[in-house]
Amino acid sequence: MDYERTEGPDGLEIRVPTDDGYRTCSECGGDCAPDTSLSADGTGVRIAFVCAEHGVQSVVDPFSDLR
Ligand SMILES: [Zn+2]
Repeated sequence: MDYERTEGPDGLEIRVPTDDGYRTCSECGGDCAPDTSLSADGTGVRIAFVCAEHGVQSVVDPFSDLR
């Protein structure tokens, strides 16, 4: 899978899939906003994609292959 690099908190490089499906709301088809506030659990950086109307659509774990 191809990844897009994004600057994350603390200067970490975050990779997210370039496939746009993970950030499209399944309810309204809208573009979801990335939210890294769920990542502070000590296990790594996760990015949630949140639709303003329908809530969290998906959570990307860019470092899952490093564990
Ligand atoms: Zn939606």
